[in-house]
Amino acid sequence: MRIERITVFHVRLPLLHPWTTAYGKEDAVETIFVRMETDGLEGWGESSPLASPFYSSEYAGGCFAVLRDQLARQLVGRDIALGEDLEKWLAPFKGNYFAKAALDAAWWDLRARASGMPLYRLLGGQKNTVMAGDDFGIQDSIGELLDLVGAAVATGAPRIKLKYGPGWDTPVLERVRAQYPDVPLHIDCNSAYSLDDMSMFRRLEKFRLTMIEQPLRFDDLNDHARLQREISVPLCLDESITSIERMRQAIELGSCQWVNIKPGRVGGLTNALKIHDLCRSAGIPCWVGGMLESSLGAMLCAALATLENFKYPADLFPFSKFYKEDITTSPLLFSSPWHFTLPEVPGVGTQPDKERMKRATLQEAAVTARS
Ligand code: MG
Repeated sequence: MRIERITVFHVRLPLLHPWTTAYGKEDAVETIFVRMETDGLEGWGESSPLASPFYSSEYAGGCFAVLRDQLARQLVGRDIALGEDLEKWLAPFKGNYFAKAALDAAWWDLRARASGMPLYRLLGGQKNTVMAGDDFGIQDSIGELLDLVGAAVATGAPRIKLKYGPGWDTPVLERVRAQYPDVPLHIDCNSAYSLDDMSMFRRLEKFRLTMIEQPLRFDDLNDHARLQREISVPLCLDESITSIERMRQAIELGSCQWVNIKPGRVGGLTNALKIHDLCRSAGIPCWVGGMLESSLGAMLCAALATLENFKYPADLFPFSKFYKEDITTSPLLFSSPWHFTLPEVPGVGTQPDKERMKRATLQEAAVTARS
């Protein structure tokens, strides 16, 4: 497929309610869309690094600039037959995982559309349904959180994830566990702690958590391995896994027993597949995380989540949980409260709605072979 034109969009999606984690509060999600064109076909990708570099070193405004000025120019005019080829052309540029992921996703959608196949099947998925769990940010009060968790448990949520950080920690967990003793539960610390907090981690043993997600520094592997040797609760890495090499090192060190794979964080679906395969051969189960993407990004994540080593409900949600309106033509629709069925159409299964996209776009740039 010869890439003729790449258009990059920096988009702002206002949230219905602020989303608060150990990193701070977001009132809107800033995300990147990429449209890639070849021979009368177009493919769409999304990657959501958020508005400020708090989750990782990337942010939407920076991603937009590096895509426009550097990365897209590297691909236009080239014939790209495999995800590995795209990765090879982008390899001279260090880091910039979320930016690369937007290009990689658009290429996969384009390739699936050109082959007349649903994306999930092209990725190697065997089933077209994906199970999702629920995820709760830091609330204004424990009472509010208990009500939200109660509503999710009442509809059969297969697992609950709580954001966890200083000021919103063990007492909150104590109340949730006391009220809902049987629901599969895990916490996500978003890098808020260090090995100095060992006594707090030891106190978590009694809550029967399925895992503790990213308790320590965003770029650490070694201290996670030390913590995993000290406590029996499985650790899950999120922020720390940005590449196949980092994953190999985490396995060698024993840094985790689970991995949350987000296509954006690892540079795209091509690398997500490699990390999935490496974890499968090492006996480490994975699950698909999210970055509050629109339905387009969520569909990309859902397609990935159909692979066999994704063993825990994904962070997927209907757009109405976070957004007033969906920006795409076909929103992620749940066939039961906690199951999403992927559409049997060529490609990822959705694309931005032109009018809604226009209203949400902060800046846009097209790169062609001549520009
Ligand atoms: Mg996380």
